[in-house]
Amino acid sequence: MDFLLKFDTKGKFKIVQFTDIHEGPELDEGISVMRKILDYEKPNLVVLTGDNIDGKCKTAQDVKMAISHIASPMENRKIPWTIVFGNHDDEHGIMSKEEMMKFYMSFKYNISQIGYRTFDRVGNYNLIVEGSKNKTPVINLYFIDSGKYAPFFVGGYNWIKLTQILWYRKIALGLKQRYNKIIPSLMYFHIPIPEYKKAWRRGKPKGEKLDSIDSPLINICGGLFRVLINTKDVIGVFVGHDHFNNFVVKYKGILLGYAGYTGYGGYGDSKIPRGARVILVNETNPTDIKTWLRREGDGELRKLYN
Ligand SMILES: [Zn+2]
Repeated sequence: MDFLLKFDTKGKFKIVQFTDIHEGPELDEGISVMRKILDYEKPNLVVLTGDNIDGKCKTAQDVKMAISHIASPMENRKIPWTIVFGNHDDEHGIMSKEEMMKFYMSFKYNISQIGYRTFDRVGNYNLIVEGSKNKTPVINLYFIDSGKYAPFFVGGYNWIKLTQILWYRKIALGLKQRYNKIIPSLMYFHIPIPEYKKAWRRGKPKGEKLDSIDSPLINICGGLFRVLINTKDVIGVFVGHDHFNNFVVKYKGILLGYAGYTGYGGYGDSKIPRGARVILVNETNPTDIKTWLRREGDGELRKLYN
């Protein structure tokens, strides 16, 4: 079922990004973190940026159980939600990404797409958010499958493929042509691009870096970031993957952000709270996005739920 994404009557559009839930067949405490944050923030859209589930699933039933756990906070609250895959999502080896994506899409409020497929990448797609009063697109959202591991002779994590970069550029130029303007866009995927490292060193980051920045070692011809700079529509990129990093930093005009981690199923630290990154876009000035972290135990959330 398709849910039109629209700015609300106050001209606001709020996105909650959960990441690295690492859910398995046993209901994880991260799901209650999700519920609390959704009740508090009441977003218009939820984005899950990968490692939604992991290798704890041993059967197809386990995989479906884990995905159903993840789905329930949004489904119960009738909030549209989308996903991208991380490096752990199909390590169970039982269901393919395409099969899992179809299962995600079977939930009433899930608006993910299989989208453009290339190599092992599934779920490259974009969604437009319309204005509150008419059908004019105000912002656009890109979702990309950043893959898993690089070939052994390269080491580290894989990179966003040239075919995906070309796909992105085609969509961006198509939108520009169709609407005769650049539509400010946000991009979501799992593994940070190498520019996160440069940005942390050279920019003015807000937030913490308590983890390494595990981006790919290869960045052919400046990779995705260079094309983003040239194409000019993307104003923010948001990832997960490195659970203890939650900073945002502007680099060459693009906000690069982490969301920390949401789940208890992956690696974690009791001193580093689980949570989400929130983004608020204002219809009258969509390039000026507000963003913050909402985490368990933080300020008002703790007051509300202790
Ligand atoms: Zn993870």
